[in-house]
Amino acid sequence: MSPDAARKPQTANREVMHFIDGHYVPSCSGKTFEDISPVDGSVIATVHEAGKAEVDQAVAAARAALNGPWGKLTTPERTALLHHLANCIEKRFDEFVETECLDTGKPYSDCSHIDIPRGAANFRVFADIVKNIPTEAFTMHAPDGANVLNYALRVPKGVVATICPWNLPLMLMTWKVGPALACGNTVVVKPSEETPLTTSLLGEVMNEAGIPPGVYNVVNGFGPDSAGTYLTEHPDVDAITFTGETRTGEAIMRAAAKGLRAVSFELGGKNPALVFADCDLDLAIANTVRSTFVNCGQVCLGTERIYVERSLFPTFVQRLKEAAEKLKIGPPKEPGVTLGPLISQVHRDKVLSYYRLAVEEGATVVTGGGIPDMPGELKNGSWVQPTIWTGLSPDARTNREEVFGPCCHIAPFDTEEEAIRIANDTPYGLTSVVWTRDLSRAHRVAAQLQSGITWINSWFLRDLRTPFGGMKHSGIGREGGVHSLEFYTELRNICIRY
Ligand code: NAD
Repeated sequence: MSPDAARKPQTANREVMHFIDGHYVPSCSGKTFEDISPVDGSVIATVHEAGKAEVDQAVAAARAALNGPWGKLTTPERTALLHHLANCIEKRFDEFVETECLDTGKPYSDCSHIDIPRGAANFRVFADIVKNIPTEAFTMHAPDGANVLNYALRVPKGVVATICPWNLPLMLMTWKVGPALACGNTVVVKPSEETPLTTSLLGEVMNEAGIPPGVYNVVNGFGPDSAGTYLTEHPDVDAITFTGETRTGEAIMRAAAKGLRAVSFELGGKNPALVFADCDLDLAIANTVRSTFVNCGQVCLGTERIYVERSLFPTFVQRLKEAAEKLKIGPPKEPGVTLGPLISQVHRDKVLSYYRLAVEEGATVVTGGGIPDMPGELKNGSWVQPTIWTGLSPDARTNREEVFGPCCHIAPFDTEEEAIRIANDTPYGLTSVVWTRDLSRAHRVAAQLQSGITWINSWFLRDLRTPFGGMKHSGIGREGGVHSLEFYTELRNICIRY
C-alpha cells in the first residue's frame, strides 16, 4: 500500500484498519469482523481484527517513538503539539460527531455537547497540567557540611496499553491518551469492538497535527484470546489503563501481574441517589432523568438505585415516571430525540433479562419494561423502553447488579442513617448523589458515602482537575488532574551533593 493510500480516511470507505506507526494497516491474517449499527442493525464497517503480529508491530512502534523523536521533545514542545491536536479535532468536529453517532446511535445533541468537546478538552487540560505542576525540592547538609539538594523528576512510564469501552468511545479513550501523551508516554489503544470508528479517525488527525508516527497506535479486535489479551500480556507494555467491567478488570489484572505492570482501572457501578424531603424537587427530577436515562443508561456514573425520604416517595415516583415517559426515543438526528438505542442486540438481551428478572423478583413496573414499537428498519435496532421499578427487596439481584441500561429502582427510607446504610450496601463504589437543601446534612452524608465521587444537588458536573475513580469494586487508582500524573509518570529522586 502506498503511503498516500495508507493515510486515507478509514471511516470514509467504512473499512477500519489498525493504525500503526502513522499508517493504516490491514491484518496480515485477513481476519475481519462487522461493526453493526445499533439504530437499524445494518453493517456500518468492516473492521480488521489484530492478531499477535499486529500487536507486536504496534508495541514496537510505540517503543521506537518513545526512544526516538517523541522522547526527545521538551515539555513545552510536546504540550504545544497537544494543543494543536485539540484544535485539529475541533476543525473536524462535525465529522467526529457524525462518526460517533453512527457507531453508538446516541442522540446528536449529546454527542455534540458531551462526547466530542470532551475529546478535544482532554488533550488541552492535561497539556496545561503537566506544564504547570511543580515537583518537590529539599535542601539539607551532608555529615561533612556539604550542601545537598534533593529534587523530584517526573519521567514517562513508557508504552501504555489503553483498553476502552463502547459507551463514550472518543471521550473515555482521550481521557487516558490525553494525560499519557502529555506526560511523554506513547500508547497502543484497543477500542471496544463495538465502537472502533472515532479511535481510528483520530489516527488521521494525529498525522495532520504532526504528532510523530508511533506515538498513537490502534489495534482492533476483541478481548479474550484477541487483541485485548495480546496487548495486556505483551511483555514490552509498561502500564495498562482500562475502563470497562469489573470482571474484565480482574482478567486484565491477572495479565498485568506478569512483569508487575502498573494498572489504572475505571470499572462498573451500581450508583445510589439519596433524595431528602427538603430538596429542590424540580432540580432533583431534572437531573435524575439525566443520571438514569442519558446515553440510554449506559453511563458508568449513572444512577440505578434511588432512595427517597418516605414523605416524598409517592410524589417523586410519579414525577420521575412522567419525566421518563416524555423522553423521545429515536435515531440520532431526529429532532427532539433524547434517548437512543442500546449499543447492541447482545447488550439489549442482557438488559431485557434484567427487565424480566425484576418482575420475577417481585418488582412493580412503574413505567416501561419492554421494547418500544419502532417504525420500518428501526425495528432492527437495539431499542428498549426507559424503565422504573419499585417494590424490590434490597437483596434482589436487580438491585445489586449493574444493568447498564435506562432503568432504576426507587425505594423509600425513613432516617438519614438508614439512607447511608442502604446506599453503601453494594460491592461497588463509583458515584453517589445527594439531594437536600440542608448544607450540614449534605456534608455529613457525603463524608459517609463509600464512593469515589459524591455530587450534591447536581450530577455529572465535572472539573477535569479533580480526582476521578472508584472505591471497592469500581476501580483502582485515580485519574484526573495531577492524579493522572501519578499513574502516567515515574517520580524519581535526584540527590546532589555540592
Ligand atoms: P468490557 O469490560 O466488556 O470491555 C471493555 C474493553 O475491554 C473492550 O475493549 C473489550 O474488548 C476489552 N476486553 C474484554 N475482555 C478483555 C480481556 N480479557 N483482556 C483485555 N481486554 C479485554 O466493558 P464494556 O461492556 O465495553 O463497557 C461497559 C462497562 O464499563 C460497564 O461495566 C461500565 O460501568 C464500565 N465503565 C466504567 C467507567 C468508569 O469510569 N468507571 C466508564 C465507562 C464504562
